[in-house]
Amino acid sequence: MLVVQKYGGSSVANPKRIRRVAQRVVEMHRQGHQIIVVVSAMGDTTDKLIELVKEITTNPSEREMDRLLSTGEQVTIALLAMAINSIGEDVISLTGPQVGIKTDSIHSKARIIDIDTGRLQQEINDDKIIVVAGFQGINEENDITTLGRGGSDTTAVAIAASMNADLCEIFTDVDGVYTTDPRMVPEARKLDAITYDEMLELAHLGAVVLHPRAVECAKLYNIPIHVRSSFNHNLGTIVKEVTDLEKDMVVAGIAYDLNVTKIGIFDVPDEPGIAHKIFSSLAEKNVNVDMIIQSAMRNQVNSISFTVSQTDLRHALNVVENIKDDIGYKGYTHDQDVAKVSIVGAGMVSNPGVAAMMFEALALENINLEMISTSDIKVSCIIKKELADIAVKALHKKFNLGDENDSVCCCS
Ligand code: ASP
Ligand code: MG
Repeated sequence: MLVVQKYGGSSVANPKRIRRVAQRVVEMHRQGHQIIVVVSAMGDTTDKLIELVKEITTNPSEREMDRLLSTGEQVTIALLAMAINSIGEDVISLTGPQVGIKTDSIHSKARIIDIDTGRLQQEINDDKIIVVAGFQGINEENDITTLGRGGSDTTAVAIAASMNADLCEIFTDVDGVYTTDPRMVPEARKLDAITYDEMLELAHLGAVVLHPRAVECAKLYNIPIHVRSSFNHNLGTIVKEVTDLEKDMVVAGIAYDLNVTKIGIFDVPDEPGIAHKIFSSLAEKNVNVDMIIQSAMRNQVNSISFTVSQTDLRHALNVVENIKDDIGYKGYTHDQDVAKVSIVGAGMVSNPGVAAMMFEALALENINLEMISTSDIKVSCIIKKELADIAVKALHKKFNLGDENDSVCCCS
C-alpha cells in the first residue's frame, strides 16, 4: 500500500514527539507499506515567526513572508528524517519546491496547480521513506509560496491524489471529528465517518480539524481521509463521499462561529441592481459575505442585512460608507455581539422538519433568531453571542448527538 501520513504541529512539537512519530512511521514501513510523510512546523513555530516579523516591520513583503514561514516545516523534515534514519531506515526529506509542488503566485494563500511526481516516484522506487515539508510550494518565478494557515493538510491530500495513494491519514491531537466542540459540550461524540460536504461545512464553521482546501481537494479526487490522533492507535473519523455507517443521521454535527459581525443597511431603494452594487463593491475589496437577508419591501424601500467575519469588518464598513451616495440608503448599523450556530447533516435534504426542530430547541431556551439561512445540508442562525454556549448544548441534546444508539435518524 502507498500511504500518505500527515502529522500536525502538536504531533511534532518537541524532539520526543518527533522521535515518537518516527517510530510510528517506521512501524508502518516495516509492515511493507510505502510511505510519504507530510509534516507541519513544530508546535507554534509559525505563530512565533509571525511575531518576529512584527518586531521588524508592519508591512512585510509577501514574498519574504512566505520565504520565512516556509522555514518552520523545513526544520521539522530534517529532524524527522534524522530520527527515522537513527532507527535504521532509509529516508529522505524534501521541501515543497524539491517535490515539485507548483502553485499560483498568490503569496500566503497559494493554490496547488500541479505536482511533478517524478522525484517522489523515484525515491519510492528506491524504497525510501519520504518526508515532505507541508504548506509550501513554488510559483512560476521559482519563488516559495505558502498555502495558508493549516495548509499542510492540503499538501498531504494533494500528494495522495497525485500519487494515487491507497490511504491518506491526517494525524492530529484529537481523536477525530466530533459532533460538536468537546470543550463546549462534554457529551460530544467522535464520528466514525462524515461526508466531504459535511466536513466542509464543519471546517468553515469553526471546527478547525481539517483545512477546508484539503477537504475540497479530497472531494475532487475522491480521496478518503482518515483523521486520527497521533497520541494513540484509536480509529479516528473517515471523511469520504457517502458514509454507510451514519448515512441515516439527519444531523451529523453542530458548529458555531464567534467571529461574525452583522451589518444592516436601512431604507435601501427597491430597484433592480442595488444588491449587485452592494455586493460587488464588497467583493472588489475581497470581503467575504456569508448570510444575506433582504426584508420584504415596504414603501418602496428594503433593508438588507448580511454577515462578514470580524476580521473583514473594517473593510466592509468602508465599502458601505463609500456607496452611500450611489445607492441612496438612509443608514446602517453593525453588531459584533453575535454568533452563528449551525446544524450540519447530509440527511437533511430528504427529511422535512429538521429546521423546525432546530427553531424549537432554540425557542425553548428563549433564544431570539436574528437571521436564518439554509442550504441542502445545513441551517444556520445568528443569535446573541453570549447565548452561543446554551444554543450549542441545546441543539446537541435535541438531535441526540451525544448518544450513539439514538443518534441515527432522529426526525419523525
Ligand atoms: N505551519 C502552518 C500553520 O501553522 C501550516 C500547518 O501547520 O499546516 O499554519
Ligand atoms: Mg499548524
